[in-house]
Amino acid sequence: MDDEETKTSDPVVSPEQHQETMVVTQVRSLKDLLDRVTGRGEYSPESAEDSGIAEILPFPFLAMVGQREMKLALLLSLINPAIGGVLLVGPRGTGKTTAVRSLIHLLPMVSRSLCYYGCLPEDIESAGVDSVCPDCARKYAEGKPLVKLDSVRLVELPLNSQLDDVIGGLDERAAAHDRMRLKRGLLAHADRNLLYVDEVNMLEDDVVDALLDASTQGYFTVRRGPLAATYWSRFVLIGSMNPEEGRLRPQIQDRFGLRVVVRGLDDIEERLEAYKRVHTYLTNRRYTIEEYQLETDIAKAEIQTAREIMNKVVLPDEVARIGLELINRLKIDSLRAEITLFESARAHAAADARTMVTKDDIQEVVLMSLRLRRSGFITDYIEQQQAEDNEILQAQQTAFHGSIG
Ligand SMILES: [Zn+2]
Repeated sequence: MDDEETKTSDPVVSPEQHQETMVVTQVRSLKDLLDRVTGRGEYSPESAEDSGIAEILPFPFLAMVGQREMKLALLLSLINPAIGGVLLVGPRGTGKTTAVRSLIHLLPMVSRSLCYYGCLPEDIESAGVDSVCPDCARKYAEGKPLVKLDSVRLVELPLNSQLDDVIGGLDERAAAHDRMRLKRGLLAHADRNLLYVDEVNMLEDDVVDALLDASTQGYFTVRRGPLAATYWSRFVLIGSMNPEEGRLRPQIQDRFGLRVVVRGLDDIEERLEAYKRVHTYLTNRRYTIEEYQLETDIAKAEIQTAREIMNKVVLPDEVARIGLELINRLKIDSLRAEITLFESARAHAAADARTMVTKDDIQEVVLMSLRLRRSGFITDYIEQQQAEDNEILQAQQTAFHGSIG
């Protein structure tokens, strides 16, 4: 079975470069950068001539005007995959897809296993050499690397995807040579990457099931005739949807960590600025990207740094209790609510270059972590059940009293 994860990408910004750019612009942290750069900035009309470049150059993340909550949610989910990704809900033309694709400029590095089975040095460190394949056990003993650094990728799941595209199926090229072989599907390619599903509410049911399966377990198994294969599939799920076009199944809605309701810009000046920037970008993409290059590089380095301090970020009990009190008051059942709330608060602290979560971190992420968590159906259902329980208890009391009296 081949493994296509052998492409290399640019090395991460070195500490020296990082230091230098930081001095140039005096940005204190990623959070600071987000507040300072986006939604403002100068428009330079002396820009645009067509460079004739046909390649896809996404709009720079930091050039997006306003939409702070959407941008913060996306950045936090890049910093901490444990948040569980982001769902963007809103009408068409509000920049949801643009924002997600613009993350391409900011994607951090991860260490990827060099082995087909996905063996990692951490596996050996936590569970001994028997936890990896014999090949990797030997390499580890010889001091050879089991992983390589590689950029996170943005993998898009197209709306019209069929189950075979998503989980993989028989490899037709191999079949043409009379060989039976399985082909990796999108969910396998999404391992340790971002998986973006636009119009997530319009997916076919079998595709949604496969997506849920993989995101719950972190792997999935494909069976085609006599062949079977299991693939890693640990991805950060980013979805967008227009609620006018249909509702999202509750199981998949629950899978998303952060939830942002995206509206159009309501400030006329912001809207004008956004129009101008998009116009400049459409006239000369490379110019717009270069205009934001320095800040983009800083943001990328900051995301990497924040990811590296994530496991040092501590959530004190007294701060956790405030969050749980909130969830309790809101009568939210899903345990994913506090996982997302706490993990995003930790990422928010890391984005601000701190290793201690404060009440303010909770406050900054509370809306995006807890909204769209309650279900009218469940509330009604529980109320009905309580009414029924009361009836049973009353009937029982009457019967008991009756029999005693
Ligand atoms: Zn291995």
